[in-house]
Amino acid sequence: AAARVLQSGMRLPPLPTIRELVKLYKLQAMKQLSQNFLMDERLTDKIVKSAGRIDHSDIVLEVGPGPGGITRSILRRQPQRLILVEKDERFGETLQLLRECAKPLNIQLDTYYDDILRFNIEHHVPDTTQRLHLIGNLPFAISTRLLINWYEDLAARRGAFRRNDTCMTLTFQKEVAERICAPVGGEQRCRLSVMSQIWTEPVMKFIIPGKAFVPKPQVDVGVVKLIPLKQPKTQLPFPLVERVVRHIFSMRQKYCRRGYGTLFPQEGREEVTQNLFQRAEVQDTLRSFELSVEQCLRLAEVYSEHIASHPEVEKYDYRAPKNAEIL
Ligand code: SAM
Repeated sequence: AAARVLQSGMRLPPLPTIRELVKLYKLQAMKQLSQNFLMDERLTDKIVKSAGRIDHSDIVLEVGPGPGGITRSILRRQPQRLILVEKDERFGETLQLLRECAKPLNIQLDTYYDDILRFNIEHHVPDTTQRLHLIGNLPFAISTRLLINWYEDLAARRGAFRRNDTCMTLTFQKEVAERICAPVGGEQRCRLSVMSQIWTEPVMKFIIPGKAFVPKPQVDVGVVKLIPLKQPKTQLPFPLVERVVRHIFSMRQKYCRRGYGTLFPQEGREEVTQNLFQRAEVQDTLRSFELSVEQCLRLAEVYSEHIASHPEVEKYDYRAPKNAEIL
């Protein structure tokens, strides 16, 4: 028991269990908010432990605390400040209970009932003197969107990423977690793998079986820690990289030149594509899942050079009707 206390941090005052609170306040999970609750303290402790060291000078932002299982585990680790962003106000009473626990531990607990996709982190954490951790058992419905938004912030060194040591410890559907971490050539390798590995080092921490959640989701869940790279692999603007990678992976099973080629108008497409692959020193008959991050970025570099001299190509949308090819 003593080892448990040490591992998971401070003891909190006695509280009803999460299961009891969910029952007491009739907190029926809402499907449209992707609510699946974790009741097992050992699992919530393990998620927070995956975030690494949390010092008393640190700030933690938790996405979607719900009834507060992970929140309790974070409080036991005693950050200086804990920011909760929760869309569903029904959790007001259960989260208020945790406010009471935070006070004697000298932890500033700020709860916002807001959408994390719109939440302005810079506004709520105006200075960058403290290290920030992002932690959350994410709602499945927004997890990849949120991640891509955060990569965009990371690339621009803004929002939560004005410092280069803001780690994200997040849950995803197991398959999505595997995609984020997938190596070159791997079965799960996709756009999300490359986008993730351009700006971070994603580490698969552990898998939580679906049956650990209430209600039980259809799938198991993967806990991933995303560590921002100290040296970003590219200085290219995020929208350009995102566009190139999206096109490369638009035809995952075909030669990668096929998807990349759709960045360019039909007329002259073959020559331009061939020429740019040569300049990037990438073999154009590889499949997109066989490309390394560096190869994708070289293709983005030569695309960037190409549009600098052919600015009309930047606006080309290959799905647009033919007579609107160059807008
Ligand atoms: N952290 C709790 C746990 O582990 O038991 C709940 C996790 S549940 C999978 C996801 C939580 O995110 C829910 O509490 C849900 O209300 C909240 N949520 C859903 N969409 C959200 C959004 N856009 N912004 C903030 N919170 C959101």
